[in-house]
Amino acid sequence: MLVAGAGVIGTACAHFLETLGYSVILADRGPVYAQASYGNCGNICPSHLLPLAQPGVIGQALTALAQGDAPFFLAPRIDLPLWRWLLRFGGNCRRNRMIHSGHAALALLRESRHLYDGLLDEYALECEWDSSGSLYVFERSHALQRFAATAELLQTEYGIEAHFVTAGALAAMEPALRPGLAGAWYFPGDAHLRPDRLLACWRQSLRSRGIRFMEHTGVQGLVFRDGRACAARTSRGEIEADFFVFATGAMTPFLSREIGWQVPIQPAKGYSLTMPRPRCSPRVALHLVDYGVVVTPMRSGCRLGSVLEFSGYNRRVDLRRVALLRSAARACLVEPLTEPVEQPWVGWRSMTPDGLPRIGPCPTAPNLYLAAGHNMLGMSMAPATGQLIAQMIDRQVPTVDPTPYRLLQ
Ligand SMILES: Cc1cc2nc3c(=O)[nH]c(=O)nc-3n(C[C@H](O)[C@H](O)[C@H](O)COP(=O)(O)OP(=O)(O)OC[C@H]3O[C@@H](n4cnc5c(N)ncnc54)[C@H](O)[C@@H]3O)c2cc1C
Repeated sequence: MLVAGAGVIGTACAHFLETLGYSVILADRGPVYAQASYGNCGNICPSHLLPLAQPGVIGQALTALAQGDAPFFLAPRIDLPLWRWLLRFGGNCRRNRMIHSGHAALALLRESRHLYDGLLDEYALECEWDSSGSLYVFERSHALQRFAATAELLQTEYGIEAHFVTAGALAAMEPALRPGLAGAWYFPGDAHLRPDRLLACWRQSLRSRGIRFMEHTGVQGLVFRDGRACAARTSRGEIEADFFVFATGAMTPFLSREIGWQVPIQPAKGYSLTMPRPRCSPRVALHLVDYGVVVTPMRSGCRLGSVLEFSGYNRRVDLRRVALLRSAARACLVEPLTEPVEQPWVGWRSMTPDGLPRIGPCPTAPNLYLAAGHNMLGMSMAPATGQLIAQMIDRQVPTVDPTPYRLLQ
């Protein structure tokens, strides 16, 4: 079994395949853990189940573009796959589609949240797991009032527990926040972890169970025989296997020919800043909604993360986005930045037009599978994705219905 891509999704696939008795090679084109799964915010957040494609979001995005220093940015350019993607995205900004995507996302989020509990205990994955929930914090009262409809929808349509927190109660509940904020919504079902620690421990556990890691081994193509894939052509020669899984995140479109489908994934760059843990650390993960910034308190530090930058496959750090993280922290936190703040980290989210990942067999061969396109929720959906891939390959009845994540739809 060859899994290409050793981010959190590939790691989860390798894990569940190994538990079913498969012998697995995990190959990555770079050093493992260099991509999106490393420096992200680590929130495991069923509360975030609604896709980006929502009614009204295009108007908000255009306003953000005009501002220049907003968390959303699209570099204007001639890029046909991007424009095709945007058209499909626009088609998904309807309420019925949003509701449908939310249910499909929730199935993976719920199952993953449940699987994390078992995984962390059974495999001793020391990743600073904290299940104290998250707070969606509002600086402006009209934004807080507007969010009431979303909170209502999350509760009634999806059964997500949410509690309104008044400005007065917020000060007592979260002393790390500056006074004067408008209020918040508390989501007790959310959790957070430190992603780099999770992956380091998971990798160690997989190694001890016989899984082979091959770094600097990029999959360039496949060799097909009798309608099946029989080997992967890689930068380090051919690797034979019975089954192949592409868990290649934002870079998946480069494998479209092998997959047999123009994969509708666009890279959206995100930024994070990691720093030592402040003395007055937040008690729970904070979503600073007015700024689109997330603050993740960790035992070993604190991380600020944000930004959706559609600027193609580049790793340039735009200092305006870094400034946004810093100004959000200054506006909302009592102790905003603890020195030394690490160099800004950037990673590409793999964005699909409907917000849903693509998980399942590929048209070119029955033994080739794809698990990619996890948008802003790859950490939150990884265990259920890995379990689903393993169950499909092993021809078991899947725990989560795979229909919404099919490739061709
Ligand atoms: C700033 C930021 C904050 C985020 N916060 C959260 C959060 O709080 N909660 C959450 O759930 N999600 C969050 N995310 C999203 C999450 O990080 C991603 O959804 C997740 O990491 C995707 O994992 P992946 O394994 O699919 O991709 P990646 O981690 O990108 O891994 C893909 C791997 O495939 C390898 N690869 C690519 N092409 C090839 C090839 N041809 N051959 C071999 N290897 C290849 C790459 O080198 C890479 O290592 C955040 C993302 C960002 C950027």
